[in-house]
Amino acid sequence: MPKLRLAVIGAGPAGIYASDILLKHERAFDVSIDLFDHLPAPYGLVRYGVAPDHPRIKGIINALRDVLDRGDIRIFGNVRFGVDITLDDLKKHYNAVIFATGAVKDAPLDIPGIDLDGSYGAAEFVSWFDGHPDVPREWPLEAQSLAVIGNGNVALDVARMLAKHPEDLLPTEIPANVYEGLKKSPITDVHVFGRRGPMQVKFTPLELRELGELRDVDMIVHEEDFDYDEASEAALKTNKQVMVIDKVLKQWRARSVGEASRRLHLHFFAKPLEVVGDDSGRVSAFRYERTEPDGEGGVRGTGEIREVPIQALYRAVGYFGSQLDGVPFDAERGVIPNHEGQALNEHNEIVPGVYATGWIKRGPVGLIGHTKSDAMETVSHLVNDQASWWTPESPSEESVVELLDARGIQYTDLDGWHRLDEHEIALGAPQERARIKVVPRDEMVKVSRGE
Ligand SMILES: Cc1cc2nc3c(=O)[nH]c(=O)nc-3n(C[C@H](O)[C@H](O)[C@H](O)COP(=O)(O)OP(=O)(O)OC[C@H]3O[C@@H](n4cnc5c(N)ncnc54)[C@H](O)[C@@H]3O)c2cc1C
Repeated sequence: MPKLRLAVIGAGPAGIYASDILLKHERAFDVSIDLFDHLPAPYGLVRYGVAPDHPRIKGIINALRDVLDRGDIRIFGNVRFGVDITLDDLKKHYNAVIFATGAVKDAPLDIPGIDLDGSYGAAEFVSWFDGHPDVPREWPLEAQSLAVIGNGNVALDVARMLAKHPEDLLPTEIPANVYEGLKKSPITDVHVFGRRGPMQVKFTPLELRELGELRDVDMIVHEEDFDYDEASEAALKTNKQVMVIDKVLKQWRARSVGEASRRLHLHFFAKPLEVVGDDSGRVSAFRYERTEPDGEGGVRGTGEIREVPIQALYRAVGYFGSQLDGVPFDAERGVIPNHEGQALNEHNEIVPGVYATGWIKRGPVGLIGHTKSDAMETVSHLVNDQASWWTPESPSEESVVELLDARGIQYTDLDGWHRLDEHEIALGAPQERARIKVVPRDEMVKVSRGE
C-alpha cells in the first residue's frame, strides 16, 4: 500500500485535530504523521491563550492529549519551522505539509499615541499571564486606572485578569511570577471600550456574566448606552445570545454599586481617536468619539469627543497570523491564502503539497471547536490530491530524526511532554493547585528531555 508521509506544523488544536481526522479518514494509503511545534509543549493557544481561570476550556487539553497518547502521531517540540526546519527540508522528507501555525501577534490599531509607553497589545499580556516562554517574566502593572479597547472575548479576558483580585487566581495554574506581579498591581478601575452598542458586541454571554461574579469588583454600566434603536431591538428579538447579554446587562443596571474596592466599567458607542501622552511620553488619557446607531446595525460618529484619564491601555482588537518562509501569505488578512485549505499562490493557483488549517487558514476568529470542522475540509482535499503530492527523496522516518540531530536541535517528544506535565502537576500539588507552569524555555526543555 502507498504511504503518505505528512508533516504538520503547529501542535495547537488545529494541528492535532487535522492529524486525528486524517488517521481516521477513509483512504487507500497508509499514513505516517510528524507533528512539529516551536514550543517545547503542545496545545497552542489552549495552553498559552485561554485564561487560567477557565479550567473547563483548559480541560480540552485532556481530549487533545488523548489523541496524542494513542501514539500514532510522532511529535517534535521545540522545532521552529523556518529556522530549524525549512520547506525544502520538508519536500525532501514528506509528501505534503499542513500548516496549523495559528496567530500569536496583536492586530494593529492605527490611532495616534498607540506606541506610547504604557500602551500594550492584549496578545503580549495574555502570553505573559499564561506563562509563554518567549515573553519577559515581568509585566509593568503600575496603573490605577486603565483602558481595554475591544468588545470580544479576549478584551473581557484581559479586563477580568486585570480587575480580579490575584488571590482568587491562586487555585488556577497561573505561574508564580504572574501571581507575584498581579499582587503588586495598584489597579482600581478597568474601563472597557467598544465602538458599537451592547447589542452588537462580539463577546459571548458566558464571558460577560463572569465579570459580574468577580469578588469585590463593581460592574459599572451607563444608562445612556441602552437607548436601543430598531436594529438592536430586532437583534434582541431574534438572537438568543443577544437576549442573554441584554438580561445580564439589565441585572447590572439595577444593581447598587459603590462598595467594592475595584470597578470594571463598560463603555459602549466609543470610537477610539487617540491615546494621549504626558510630557514623558507615557499614556495619560484615552480620547474617543461618542458614536450612535446608524439604523442598520452599525454606528456613526456624533462629533462629541470625550476623554478618560488612564495610565495604561491594552488593545484587544484581534490577533494576526505570521508569515512562514517560502509559504504564500496574505499580508492584509494575516493568513495563508487558500481554497478550502489548499494553499494558493499569488496567481490564485493551488500550490501542490501545501495545506493550511485553523487560524492561519481562516483568520483569528472562532472557538477551538471550529478548528475541527476546518480540519475536516483541509484533510479531505489532502486525501483527494494524492496525484499532486510531493515525491520526497528520503521519506524514511529515521531520516528526519537524523536531520534534527545533525543540526543539534534539542527537540522534545511525547514522553518529554508527559514528563513536563507530571513535573508541573507535582509543583502545584503541595499548594493544592492544578499545576504550576514551568515558564523558561530552557527549563521546559531540560525537564522534557529528562536532563
Ligand atoms: C486570549 C484567547 C483566549 C481564548 N479563549 C478561548 C476559549 O475560552 N474558548 C475557545 O473555544 N477558544 C478560545 N480561544 C480561541 C482558540 O484558542 C483558537 O480557536 C485555537 O487555539 C486556534 O487553534 P490553532 O491550532 O489554529 O492555533 P494555535 O492554538 O495558535 O496553535 C498554533 C500552534 O502553532 C505553533 N507554531 C506557530 N508558528 C510556528 C512555527 N514557525 N514553527 C512551529 N510551530 C509553530 C504554535 O506554537 C502553536 O502551538 C481563545 C483565543 C485567545 C487568543
